[in-house]
Amino acid sequence: MKRKTFLQTLALITAGIGTMKLTDLLSHAQTPHNNNSAKMPVLFVGHGSPMNALQNNPFTQSLKKLGQQLNLQNPPAAILVISAHWLTRGTFVEASEKPETIHDFGGFPQELFNLQYPAPGSPRFARQVAQLLPHASETTDWGLDHGTWTILLHLFPDAKIPVFQLSIDYYKPMQYHVDIARQLAPLRNKGVLIIGSGNIVHNIPLSLQKGMKDNAQPYDWATEFDQWAYTRIANQNIAELCNYQSAGSAGNLAVPTPDHYIPLLYSMALAQNNDPIEQVYEDILLGGIGMRTFKIG
Ligand code: ZN
Repeated sequence: MKRKTFLQTLALITAGIGTMKLTDLLSHAQTPHNNNSAKMPVLFVGHGSPMNALQNNPFTQSLKKLGQQLNLQNPPAAILVISAHWLTRGTFVEASEKPETIHDFGGFPQELFNLQYPAPGSPRFARQVAQLLPHASETTDWGLDHGTWTILLHLFPDAKIPVFQLSIDYYKPMQYHVDIARQLAPLRNKGVLIIGSGNIVHNIPLSLQKGMKDNAQPYDWATEFDQWAYTRIANQNIAELCNYQSAGSAGNLAVPTPDHYIPLLYSMALAQNNDPIEQVYEDILLGGIGMRTFKIG
């Protein structure tokens, strides 16, 4: 069945090329931005609540605008997401041809469960990731979790660009994630947009105490740690970002568990010295969820 699907995909690609004019083909060959030869930026997105998938708010508007810019300047050949919601023992890369939209949450309206993000997968780039990372294994047992599809719905609403995920080995130290991410650097030159999706500040129990209201006054420790991280992001100080406990009690309250913080390390480890870092969105919602989102390069 999978082979059949693969052959159908090939047929579609061939049909697509057949309908292109020669001038289009030439312009694709001559324009660096269209053949993905320019180096891709890297994103870190603070994804927050899954409800963002349904909402039109300043955060989702900033994602829409960013997606439009990326599509105009340097449309990705594929998107690789490191999401806070795929935690594993060992490192895995999702290699499905048609990844499932995973609704990995509970207690939300049916409308959210009805949403789909039907982007194709990228077995080709998944294979390349497995080659770059000797300890990573390919799998088709995952799909796209809500750390991925709730943001891509706004960034790339057409769902035409192939998307795949890399898991986070939750049993490894912070430096392991930095080392893994650095090995992915060649993908930036192959048109792959790499996105870390988590939240720099992420304390759900203490946000619940404020009633999970978007306009709740941010906790002091949330603002303090967000600023602490922002300074180190701007200075590309990855060693200190790995050691977030050095921020004291603010660090421990903002990162009670590192699942949503680790994707930040993947994004930052892919930054190169001359890459500008552009803030896309910053806010602390619900009292204790940092939505800081930025573009590297
Ligand atoms: Zn999350």
